Amino acid sequence: MFDALRKGFGLTFRAMFRPSVTTEYPEVKRDVAPRFHGRHVLNRWPDGLEKCVGCELCAWACPADAIYVRGADNAPEARYSPGERYAADYQINYLRCIFCGLCIEACPTRALTMTHEYELSADARDDFIFTKQQLLAPLPQGAEPPPHTDAEIAARDMTYYKGHVAQNPLAHSHDEGAAPQEHGDPATTDLLGGGTEPPHDSPDHDGGAWR
Ligand code: SF4
Ligand code: SF4
Repeated sequence: MFDALRKGFGLTFRAMFRPSVTTEYPEVKRDVAPRFHGRHVLNRWPDGLEKCVGCELCAWACPADAIYVRGADNAPEARYSPGERYAADYQINYLRCIFCGLCIEACPTRALTMTHEYELSADARDDFIFTKQQLLAPLPQGAEPPPHTDAEIAARDMTYYKGHVAQNPLAHSHDEGAAPQEHGDPATTDLLGGGTEPPHDSPDHDGGAWR
């Protein structure tokens, strides 16, 4: 019995001199891993236009059916995104989301990324359904909120998608001198991938910050 007491108190005594590993959360927050999957953000272009083109690929990729997208057409006098369409409504249900990241892999415009924010709590179920306004990144400094007109956008001389455009495959069938556009053409790939955006597995790809 004396031996057991000696071992027990010895363990306690040694533990008293070990450095504390307790984090005083929420006052102190530990850094998460660079590729941590926190809540989503819908990114904007530097002029305030939305990167989301309402294609719904993220919703189709989601295994938990957590995303709802309702796309609508842009108009010359009311444009929300540089594409043909934009997300008139966009919602993510965080009661369903398992933070797998498949949606951000599916997004062709890098509109949808994940932040390092993990403090998601609420006392009502409806509060876990994040609306488009909650998910949208803040406006960049000096930018006007959409909609913008095509005339305003043309005056900016901005090159969305780095100025690359995909060729209309039907146009080639009428142009005998032109080589057919192949799948994976750099211009097309850049259009979809957003050019110099960091890759998904890069620590810089969301960095926990709004972009
Ligand atoms: S992280 Fe996964 S579960 Fe959550 S919305 Fe995206 S695809 Fe769906
Ligand atoms: S977030 Fe991306 S994948 Fe989802 S609708 Fe918008 S552009 Fe499409």
